[in-house]
Amino acid sequence: MAARPTILLATRNPGKAREIISLLKGLPVRLTHLTAEDPAGTIPSPVEDGATFAENARHKALYYARRTGLWALADDSGLQVDALGGAPGVRSARYALDDCPPDATGERIDRANNTRLLRELAGLGPEHRNARFVCHLALADGRAIILEARGVVQGRIAERPAGRNGFGYDPIFFLPEQGCTAAELSADQKNRISHRGRAVRALAQDLKRLLASLSSAGED
Ligand code: IMP
Repeated sequence: MAARPTILLATRNPGKAREIISLLKGLPVRLTHLTAEDPAGTIPSPVEDGATFAENARHKALYYARRTGLWALADDSGLQVDALGGAPGVRSARYALDDCPPDATGERIDRANNTRLLRELAGLGPEHRNARFVCHLALADGRAIILEARGVVQGRIAERPAGRNGFGYDPIFFLPEQGCTAAELSADQKNRISHRGRAVRALAQDLKRLLASLSSAGED
């Protein structure tokens, strides 16, 4: 086993990929992404119909590892709002898809998701707007899940969007300790406290140990 494996970031979400790449900098791995490995887009996206972030992350990681023969790192993440019984949850990416034209992508869908959520919470005071971002990571080779990690960040849904950084629900996710939304943080500030930052740092620790044990096994 090579001590410096290639890891495929199993996501077509540029916001997630940007954050994970910057968080994994410095690890003894070669990172690649779907656009580089499958420029023509011939690998269809896997169906994400799991009931939990963990199920979806494991499914995506195994799917892409089997399709490419590489180690694949998948992130399934989303927003849970207490007043909505945990919605949008695993449906975060497509929460307001019904409100969008059929050809809508990326930022257009993000804006529709945010608008729908603000509408659903209209009239509720700050004490009823508690929410959290959850990120579940799974790393797979072609046979099995090798490592997993989870990160959570608590906050609340703002009354209105603010900030232009980040992606997805960041403009309406208010962080009380920072006194601003996630979209008002710089990339580094967000990575230090975010669900994804926490999950990637935990996974990176385990990955370092795993790589060290693989390379010492190779020296025997
Ligand atoms: P997935 O691709 O099914 O994991 O969908 C994740 C969705 O959750 C994204 O498309 C966003 O809508 C939302 N999400 C996950 N992480 C973040 C984040 O860091 N900021 C804002 N929205 C996020």
